[in-house]
Amino acid sequence: QIGGVCSTNAGGLRFCRFGSLLGNVTGLEVVLGTGEVLDLMNTCRKDNTGYPLRQLFLGAEGTLGVITKVCMAAAPLPRSVQVAFLACDSIDAVCETLKLAKSEINEILSAFELVDANAMGSIMDMSVMAGKDMGMATDYPYYVLIETYGSNEDKDRESLSAFLEKAMDEAPALQGRMPVVDGVVAQDNKQAAELWHVRELCPVAASEAGYVHKYDLSLSLRQWDAFKNEVAERLSAHPQGGG
Ligand SMILES: Cc1cc2nc3c(=O)[nH]c(=O)nc-3n(C[C@H](O)[C@H](O)[C@H](O)COP(=O)(O)OP(=O)(O)OC[C@H]3O[C@@H](n4cnc5c(N)ncnc54)[C@H](O)[C@@H]3O)c2cc1C
Repeated sequence: QIGGVCSTNAGGLRFCRFGSLLGNVTGLEVVLGTGEVLDLMNTCRKDNTGYPLRQLFLGAEGTLGVITKVCMAAAPLPRSVQVAFLACDSIDAVCETLKLAKSEINEILSAFELVDANAMGSIMDMSVMAGKDMGMATDYPYYVLIETYGSNEDKDRESLSAFLEKAMDEAPALQGRMPVVDGVVAQDNKQAAELWHVRELCPVAASEAGYVHKYDLSLSLRQWDAFKNEVAERLSAHPQGGG
């Protein structure tokens, strides 16, 4: 799947830390339609020798040639991983939480994933979640999974706690409301994996709940509520309904 992920310039759950393939592929070999082999292999991240040709092929979906070799920068595995699953009562509170995370724990932030009430409802209805206790209410409007990748367990835990303390304090930008109203911090790797599992159940729960049409959309977080409401309104006129 390496050729596929390069050709779609894919990004994953840790996009906010590592970006898409565009920033991590250092070299390529491509066979053009003419049969010519283009050698753009390079192991150095920095290459400013003329036109950045390899970037043309990342995201081209195979239209410009077939990728036959790839050289990628691989990040070292983190020594310390912290995970928190937090509840927010509005999209403004989610935005404020992200802003706070970027100012308080930016250097270790590795994931910031949003789960809305519809998704959470579908997940909690799944048989695999029957009898599972999330450690907090599961009917808040929004949840965010925050993960940090770092190299010092004690320091990272301390930074996450300091961030959470601020996130659970009244925020002037929210007219005195708190960005985060509830949450769980994983105490060990097992609990961290369980919290990630909830996030990863989103697409599975959506498929179980009915018809799924998937689109990759990039839009500003502040536009999310208006977008979601308009989609729900348009789909409600459809025989299968929508949500
Ligand atoms: C526009 C787009 C964006 C996507 N973004 C993401 C994302 O951000 N994160 C994510 O996880 N998944 C993303 N996907 C899903 C993505 O297709 C798969 O993650 C990955 O491509 C699967 O690899 P595959 O080898 O099965 O590719 P396929 O599904 O077989 O092909 C995917 C595309 O890549 C081309 N392609 C495949 N192999 C090569 C090759 N060797 N050389 C040149 N072109 C090739 C194909 O022609 C096709 O256009 C995206 C898909 C598309 C179409």
